Amino acid sequence: MKALLMRKPGDVVLTEYPTPVPDKNQVLVRIHAAEICVNDIRDYKGECDFTYPRIGGHEYAGEIVQLGEKVNTKRYRIGQKVVTYCIDNCGECYFCHHGLENICPDFKHSIAYRNPDGVSGFFGFAQYIAADTRDLFICGDEVPYEKLALTEPMACVLNSINRTKLCFGDDILVIGGGTMGLLHVMLAKLRGVRVILSEPDEKRRKKALSLGADLALDPFACDIVQEVMEITGGVGANAVFNTTAVPALALQAIDAAAQNGTVIMFSSLHPNEPVPVNLGSVHSTQKIITGAQNGSIETFRQAVALLNKGLFDPSALIEAIYDYRDFDKAMACAVQADTYKVVLRIG
Ligand SMILES: [Zn+2]
Ligand SMILES: [Zn+2]
Repeated sequence: MKALLMRKPGDVVLTEYPTPVPDKNQVLVRIHAAEICVNDIRDYKGECDFTYPRIGGHEYAGEIVQLGEKVNTKRYRIGQKVVTYCIDNCGECYFCHHGLENICPDFKHSIAYRNPDGVSGFFGFAQYIAADTRDLFICGDEVPYEKLALTEPMACVLNSINRTKLCFGDDILVIGGGTMGLLHVMLAKLRGVRVILSEPDEKRRKKALSLGADLALDPFACDIVQEVMEITGGVGANAVFNTTAVPALALQAIDAAAQNGTVIMFSSLHPNEPVPVNLGSVHSTQKIITGAQNGSIETFRQAVALLNKGLFDPSALIEAIYDYRDFDKAMACAVQADTYKVVLRIG
């Protein structure tokens, strides 16, 4: 098969790579669309401590082309559209047994990140991938691959929103209007809340408003915390989602939250500098400060259900579609600060 091998940062070649052979409980998936994630951009820029060579790509969708000998043929058949749960989880540890496979400690040690003896990565930037049936989600024939490839980021955001106790009519603040910020805006709207977005770029603010945000504020033109307090009648936001990597904004997220509200550190922080938090005020305000990492098996299921049933359309977040042979062009588009999801069509 053909695969996009990143030999070192900034150096990606389309090369012959052994087609995976599915195990008895696996299927072979022919990948049709894969999207470039911030994670892939960091690999490309070398802003990570992962081992190279790598084959990136964890946001992908494809079709089953081969069944392992033990695969349940009543459930799976050749030609089915599928997405796969792509977080390496052991299925055996304390966290996996508690439905927290998204934070399985094995993930950080998996070949997704490091493989000193070979190729690391998620292997979605390739023509084929072998996947365990327990990780498969069957998708509707009529949902295009480009949309299905957005399952993973959607599942991450659903995990984030599900970690709050939002009630109808609540207020939320989303910090950052990139793809993940906008996914928060759009998916939170399905929960009947008023959405305030903080985003310095005017184009992005306009886009957020067109996608359902109720208010879009420029953090350079106003004091976001003060503004949120005014809008919410002095209460604050019932949930704040920080989708930016800037440590200073993490503090703002906590300050803008209502008493008893939830603050979600959705993005990892770069640089990962400690943020001084007044824990005495956390005590007295009962604010919940937590993180959200990856999608879970349950939120993958929810994301696929939203797409399969036509309850959610992420098309507005697709910036451009490139043939995977034009990877460098696709990456040049994806690294621009103001672009959304770039899709690779894999033939
Ligand atoms: Zn991703
Ligand atoms: Zn585990």
